[in-house]
Amino acid sequence: MRLLTSILLLVISTSFACGSISKLNRQAADTLFPVSEENKLGAQLSADMEKELKISTDEVLNAFINELGAKAVKAAGSTVPAGIKFTFKVVDDPNTINAFAMPGGYVYFYTGLIKKATSEAEVMAVMTHEVAHVVRRHVAQRLIANHGAQSLIGAALGENPGLAGELASGIVGNGYLLKHSRDAESDADAVGITWILNTNYSPQGYVSFFEKLAAGGESQPEFLSTHPDPSNRVQSAKDYISKLKNAPTNLGDATRFAEIKARIK
Ligand SMILES: [Zn+2]
Repeated sequence: MRLLTSILLLVISTSFACGSISKLNRQAADTLFPVSEENKLGAQLSADMEKELKISTDEVLNAFINELGAKAVKAAGSTVPAGIKFTFKVVDDPNTINAFAMPGGYVYFYTGLIKKATSEAEVMAVMTHEVAHVVRRHVAQRLIANHGAQSLIGAALGENPGLAGELASGIVGNGYLLKHSRDAESDADAVGITWILNTNYSPQGYVSFFEKLAAGGESQPEFLSTHPDPSNRVQSAKDYISKLKNAPTNLGDATRFAEIKARIK
């Protein structure tokens, strides 16, 4: 335990020294809270959370989100931690614009987000951002920092039902776990936008969707936290895109996307 604490302190101090989410942080998460344990905890938390959410059974919507999710994971390539098996689900809530990633690679997309998007490329922009949170193990890093690796492993093994319950109710109640740090958000943006290019969708989907939400006075979805400032994030994306040569211009299949949106009531 003392060794783990020492490693954790080292991780935290190194993180501050670097001023950003570093590779070391992900590696430390891999050591302290292995993917195999995160998967167990994720399975418990997602099962608990799904009691509170209305999961869509619409096969077309689910197939669409799974198709985009698979493309995003493929685009992430060899950076995906071994053992992470992604699960993409649609939440039937047309009035909520949100998407979020849980421990263990459980990613949820609300129908309100699909409805708000004007192209498949916009949905892909959010998808790569959420997949990046999982791949970079941002949630695992937060959990370790807040609860300690040993408590988490206990919760994953079913030996700490108090903590498992606390995490599950916190996620549903106040979005705990979904509020990432500034560094984690910037990291998910920076990594995610490079993956968009690999999916062959236009990265302009990122700019248009985030601009729309930042201007719209909507409630704050996971991917649009107040820090870093949304306008700074859009500007960073614009700067990145402006330097690209031959970036994809594909916004997706407009006819199909219109049909998909029409299914959302
Ligand atoms: Zn995010």
